Amino acid sequence: MPGARDNHGGQAKGNATGTGESRALELELRDVQKRYAGRREAAISDLSLTVPAGEVCVLVGPSGSGKTTAMRLINRMIQPSGGDILLGGRSVLERDTTELRREIGYVIQQIGLFPHKSVRDNIATVPKLLGWSKERIEARVEEMLKLISLDAEDVADRYPNQLSGGQRQRIGVARALAADPPLLLMDEPFGAIDPINRTYLQDAFLTLQAKVRKTVVFVTHDIDEAIKLGDRIAILREGGVLAQYATPAELLDHPADQFVAEFVGADRALKRLGLTTLAEVELVKMNGHRPAGQIAVTTNVRDALSAVLAGGGEPLTVVDGDGEVLGLATLEAIGHLFKNGDPSSMPASGPASGKHA
Ligand code: ADP
Ligand code: MG
Repeated sequence: MPGARDNHGGQAKGNATGTGESRALELELRDVQKRYAGRREAAISDLSLTVPAGEVCVLVGPSGSGKTTAMRLINRMIQPSGGDILLGGRSVLERDTTELRREIGYVIQQIGLFPHKSVRDNIATVPKLLGWSKERIEARVEEMLKLISLDAEDVADRYPNQLSGGQRQRIGVARALAADPPLLLMDEPFGAIDPINRTYLQDAFLTLQAKVRKTVVFVTHDIDEAIKLGDRIAILREGGVLAQYATPAELLDHPADQFVAEFVGADRALKRLGLTTLAEVELVKMNGHRPAGQIAVTTNVRDALSAVLAGGGEPLTVVDGDGEVLGLATLEAIGHLFKNGDPSSMPASGPASGKHA
């Protein structure tokens, strides 16, 4: 089912921030190589991949597989040993690096906000460099804070050490987006955040991305985070070798090899269920008796399966948003998704229930 989740198109959508100025550009890595001086093995031996405008590409792979190297090559903090990188069809190698970096938002876990600057001044960093007027900057700061669901009056004049880790991370994203860059690089941005806040930040990221539709390269070593956030996932192995580049559903349905299969995990069938909602399940017709337990049709099938199992295997009544009964979710009905044991027969959820909804 190629492309089932690939539903955001290659188009950059405008007017995302309410100012009509959201931009996104396609990113292409073409035979990129990177050898660090004094090292025998290439950090990246030959990497090619294209991220369509407005899509989230998650780079995932074990430590040392070249993920950070790839990011730093894209914004030219380091130079490639070979190949080319094109942003919107234009080689980044020909660009003035300062100008280029203003076009690329960069969010990382280690380098946080400027500690001696207020939230307002942190977010205003690149707009100031670009010489925006005071009024425009002020309006943009307010807009960015709204975009990340923080109250300007409350936080704009605080300093980073007066914020929670999760808030700081969101301000980091706001700062990266302030000058409306067509590309956003995020290198393990939520790596140091506790699991609860991490889930919250992931959800906030998806909500934000639904609005701004940036081209995003997001690095993580967490396959669950990759599946949750990526329109496409690039799995790297040592030497920056691309093991597979596919949508989350394709990756779980058809891992290219043993390395990918192991990386996505033995529970890939369950993970796959997490990408499908009850709307895709052929529900059992009601036969008069209505089981007490009920569940929303928008629930993903993995959670629905868990709910059925928690109820001792009893069917659950599936209802829509208006409380209308649609049928019964049973273990058999869910099992039917794996026709002939082949999860690729399983539909992935469409845009209405997709990640950027
Ligand atoms: P990842 O982000 O996937 O963990 P990196 O891109 O940081 O991996 O590193 C890829 C490989 O390149 C590793 O073997 C690492 O040791 C090496 N490497 C990274 N940075 C440098 C550097 N500045 N000099 C030499 N080797 C480096
Ligand atoms: Mg890294």
